[in-house]
Amino acid sequence: MSMVIPNWTHRTVMPPGHWRAVNRITDKPGDPVEVLKFTCPQCGAEGDLSDHDIDGDGVVKPSVECPECGFHDHIELQHYGEPAPAGPADV
Ligand SMILES: [Zn+2]
Repeated sequence: MSMVIPNWTHRTVMPPGHWRAVNRITDKPGDPVEVLKFTCPQCGAEGDLSDHDIDGDGVVKPSVECPECGFHDHIELQHYGEPAPAGPADV
């Protein structure tokens, strides 16, 4: 059983236990690349998932581990791969 993490669609700082996709500009071809960020459900520390695999249902493999508080669990990205909901993104 994995922990389901909701998508954070606002531009404000992510509260603990959310994920979002951000574009990262590098000097390599094919930029920008999409990077998935998430916050630890326990302490709110932000990490990225670039060294993890995410399947079509948003299941992240392998499990994630928080270097700050030691949180260690399987997570699942809610609404991963779905279009962002309509409406204002800034709240
Ligand atoms: Zn943590």
